[in-house]
Amino acid sequence: MKKYKVIYERKNCIGAATCVAANDDRWRLLDDGKAELKDSVKKDAHFELIIEETELEKMMDAARSCPVNVIHIEDMETGKRLV
Ligand code: SF4
Repeated sequence: MKKYKVIYERKNCIGAATCVAANDDRWRLLDDGKAELKDSVKKDAHFELIIEETELEKMMDAARSCPVNVIHIEDMETGKRLV
């Protein structure tokens, strides 16, 4: 099963919540007005979460919907950034 890394630059989130609308399994808004990527791990200045291919499409929808492009997805096999 292929794996993908979701990279979320939370400090630049503006709380538009389109990620939540696209994928509320993985995204929710917190009290500070910014989104949380559920189950992610903090790495330096960003958050990371590894997902499997079954989740990719919905996560791609969330990433593409973000107006400030703070959600990125990488193919862990090739290292290629998809969003
Ligand atoms: S869509 Fe982007 S800016 Fe809006 S809440 Fe989600 S991560 Fe933040």
